[in-house]
Amino acid sequence: MANRTPLIAGNWKMNLNHLEAIALVQKIAFALPAKYFDKVDVTVLPPFTDIRSVQTVVDGDKLLLTYGAQDLSQHDSGAYTGDISGAFLAKLGCSYVVVGHSERRTLHGETDEIVAAKAKAAIDHGIVPIVCIGEPLEVREAGEHVAHCVAQVKGSLAGLSAEQIGRTVLAYEPVWAIGTGRVASADDAQEVCAAVRDAIAQLADQAVADEVRVLYGGSVGSKNVGELVGKPDVDGALVGGASLKSDEFATLCAIA
Ligand code: PEP
Repeated sequence: MANRTPLIAGNWKMNLNHLEAIALVQKIAFALPAKYFDKVDVTVLPPFTDIRSVQTVVDGDKLLLTYGAQDLSQHDSGAYTGDISGAFLAKLGCSYVVVGHSERRTLHGETDEIVAAKAKAAIDHGIVPIVCIGEPLEVREAGEHVAHCVAQVKGSLAGLSAEQIGRTVLAYEPVWAIGTGRVASADDAQEVCAAVRDAIAQLADQAVADEVRVLYGGSVGSKNVGELVGKPDVDGALVGGASLKSDEFATLCAIA
């Protein structure tokens, strides 16, 4: 069994302008002493317009946290008005990029095929894609959540080589838990994260599956993160609302 360093990723969504972003990163850095970074990887995922400002603070103050983006185009350049390419994100020093967040799947019609193309584009530019999957409430209530999530993993990693899959992070985010305050139980998170890892073993091999981090996301905060990451197949968290509060985010990173 590989020793996977937990990852806590703060998805700011469409919140905070670039001045507010600078202030939040500085406060997180102040609240999270360097000793914790031996045990947990911490990244923040601000809106595109904040990334340059966040980069300046992280580089200037030699902070140990990393940063990334919430989406990217599957294309490198060209007539794609409004889109941002992996090349641009790499140039700004982004370490991670979210692909296939349920809000992108629902509001922007992103299919597994598009998500796989975006994951590949990220990897091509040396950025780790955080590939999101997760079931809506009616699927869970029908008891089909594991099959649904496994199918999404297979679709969202389709066409990637074993080596490329090894350069991804997966995030299990049940749609009914995102931004609702309704968190999955640690056992529920473990059930799906273990199934995600099995799916990765089938797509790549067991060694890759043992290396890839599988996160849980959905109403994670300092009160529940310990129990969630205590599960063997839950390797950290993708955090929305709680990532906008410096003390709360720093506390949950320290607990992880
Ligand atoms: C998310 O946006 O990925 C998320 C998990 O949000 P929240 O933590 O607010 O549920």
